[in-house]
Amino acid sequence: MAEVFLASRNPKKLEEMQRILEPLAPGVQVLGLDDVPAYDEPVEDQPDFAGNALLKARAAVAATGLPSLADDSGLCVDALNGMPGVLSARWGGPPKSDERNNTLLLAQLCDVPDERRAAHFTCAVAFCRPDRDGDAAEVVVHGQMTGRVLREVRGTGGFGYDVLFAADGYDVTTAELSREDKDAISHRGRALREIAPSVVDGLRRG
Ligand code: IMP
Repeated sequence: MAEVFLASRNPKKLEEMQRILEPLAPGVQVLGLDDVPAYDEPVEDQPDFAGNALLKARAAVAATGLPSLADDSGLCVDALNGMPGVLSARWGGPPKSDERNNTLLLAQLCDVPDERRAAHFTCAVAFCRPDRDGDAAEVVVHGQMTGRVLREVRGTGGFGYDVLFAADGYDVTTAELSREDKDAISHRGRALREIAPSVVDGLRRG
């Protein structure tokens, strides 16, 4: 069975990616960090999502020799000029905490009226394949989900800023949606559906 390595430390994100990818790439086994020997992961110091996703996928190929996928994602808030963006995971300072990130974001937006609370999630997914006879491959795609930041946390599903985010056309947060409903509209679902054919093709070529 062909194997693809998914380089993520976030167990909820990993579960979401495995769940979305498996039906799109039937017969492909998706491995996580627990399935490979530990290695030094790179510092995510790139200015954009695509740069960080590529950094992680390239490091994963170098360390494991396996075709590898990595994502970088975050919430971009219009009223904060696109922040927290690539800093989303660490917005509330170290150590990483979804709860502190959400509390800080709510405080920063407390005086922002409803009509100016637009935001979007972005996800860049990179797929890198080890070089075989000069036939290496790197693909990066993006997915987005637009919506708005609410004024209080709601729901228990998902992770990160899901408890504060309602997608366009929805009155519930993405933490209140079923997994399937979130996958159908999410930035990550869109990006993975776009990259899946490249993954299948890349694995077929070896
Ligand atoms: P990364 O691991 O550097 O990609 O961090 C992504 C961060 O963006 C997460 O820790 C969350 O704070 C946020 N984020 C990304 N995708 C989602 C999502 O689907 N729901 C909620 N928060 C997300």
